[in-house]
Amino acid sequence: MSTLITNVAELVTNAPEHAAHGAGGAAGFGALTRAALVIEDAHVAWCGPAAKAPPADEVVDAGGRAVLPGFVDSHAHLVFAGDRSAEFAARMAGRPYQAGGIAATVSATRAASDAQLRAGVRRMAGEMLRQGTTTFECKSGYGLDVPHERRSVRLAAEVTDEVTYLGAHVVPPEFGDDTDAYVDLVCGPMLAACAPYSRWVDVFCDRGAFGADEARAVLAAGRDAGLVPRVHACQLGPGPGVQVAVEAGAASADHCTYLSDADVASLASSGTVATLLPAAEFSTRQPYPDARRLLGAGATVALATDCNPGSSFTSSMALCIALAVREMGMTTQEAVWAATTGGARALRRTDVGHLTPGARADVLLLDAPSHVYLAYRPGVPQVAAVWRDGELVVDTRSTALR
Ligand SMILES: [Zn+2]
Repeated sequence: MSTLITNVAELVTNAPEHAAHGAGGAAGFGALTRAALVIEDAHVAWCGPAAKAPPADEVVDAGGRAVLPGFVDSHAHLVFAGDRSAEFAARMAGRPYQAGGIAATVSATRAASDAQLRAGVRRMAGEMLRQGTTTFECKSGYGLDVPHERRSVRLAAEVTDEVTYLGAHVVPPEFGDDTDAYVDLVCGPMLAACAPYSRWVDVFCDRGAFGADEARAVLAAGRDAGLVPRVHACQLGPGPGVQVAVEAGAASADHCTYLSDADVASLASSGTVATLLPAAEFSTRQPYPDARRLLGAGATVALATDCNPGSSFTSSMALCIALAVREMGMTTQEAVWAATTGGARALRRTDVGHLTPGARADVLLLDAPSHVYLAYRPGVPQVAAVWRDGELVVDTRSTALR
């Protein structure tokens, strides 16, 4: 089964050979105008000028809209129960965010049934898909004991291959100040219970969470169990998180809000992606990370939502793109690249985040003529259709076309 999507005003492929020469755009962003795309089964078979498109079993007229790779959201916490809207309202009224707020979600999550948690995860996954996110990562971290962390990664694995074991989110209240005892649990029986469902190991290395030595221990134990490190680094203040991530060979250091010059240099000279989560700064009224400093140094930058009930309760990659452009000085091309190919790099995936032959057919049809509209029209739903693995899974065109 093949599908030709034609009459595409702008086809964002992110292929280097389609890069906008002399446009001052992101190094990796690439697009074609007046283009077409052929999907064959679950993969992209062809892309190029619409006038040269080969025949296909089915033809979709994009009507002069833009086509992009589905978004890759490389940082999300979707397995949770409870409601923290009152905390958000209080914070907006002047109370600062502290990592300890996670404990409220932990007690609600432990008290929830499997069915309640599963329904919540599926609702969030559906919400993401309807907004054009075709690949997402999902962390544990609201169970914080062996059975509840195991349940969290098991439920996450039902909706994504990109499951992250985040037993080291915070020290749960029952451990008091005994961080060492909790780290032993995270590196021992909890890891053994969670590793079979997980691809990644993560640690919140920040003030109020875990220090450098504790984070190193968690990542080393995870690596020994076959998991690949990623790190919550430098969200709440300067600290060792980025250095720990780079030393551990982490796929990504996430947040990167407070970076030293050494942190920036380490990210630029390593394979560790700097994943920026501007919706967290938006929702906690913190300063945004300095994207231009990272890009100027040559670091690879990804954008993700950090979707979680405490500090960033949004699943909108379009919002992250708009914030990155408006508040962090990224170009529209850089932001869209960071939300697609950048996210794929942060997950060490080469099959998603671009639309070139052989890529997975994860395709976003915007109800707009170019990627610029994602930042130009913030807050406006602009998803006309989404294909995932070549299958049309979202289609709002009947209403969008009126
Ligand atoms: Zn996070």
